[in-house]
Amino acid sequence: MKYYCTGCQTIFDEDEAGRVYDDPAAGLGLMPGYITYLVCPYCGSDEYEDAAECKVCEEWFGETDIEDDMCPGCRKEIDEQLEAVVKRLEKYTEDADLAKELFLSRVERRYM
Ligand SMILES: [Zn+2]
Ligand SMILES: [Zn+2]
Repeated sequence: MKYYCTGCQTIFDEDEAGRVYDDPAAGLGLMPGYITYLVCPYCGSDEYEDAAECKVCEEWFGETDIEDDMCPGCRKEIDEQLEAVVKRLEKYTEDADLAKELFLSRVERRYM
């Protein structure tokens, strides 16, 4: 399990997370105790969310940044490329939606 700290914007692993115990003595290993919560190992913040991997660049991000399995940077890049292709197709048709459809059906035929 990986987490994304919204405090310092760092990805950390569950294993490396700081642990806060119900009793500080338990945290020092002096007595048994319960872990009450995990904190970011870098800044000590408990403000973190689940992390998710971008399927394109394979970097980890906060899961709220991931949409369609992609990080904001990769989404932007793919959107720009799609837009460029659609622009070229628009030379043949004035209709942007039709251009997009033509492109996607072509992609499907080739790769799916
Ligand atoms: Zn942090
Ligand atoms: Zn990415």
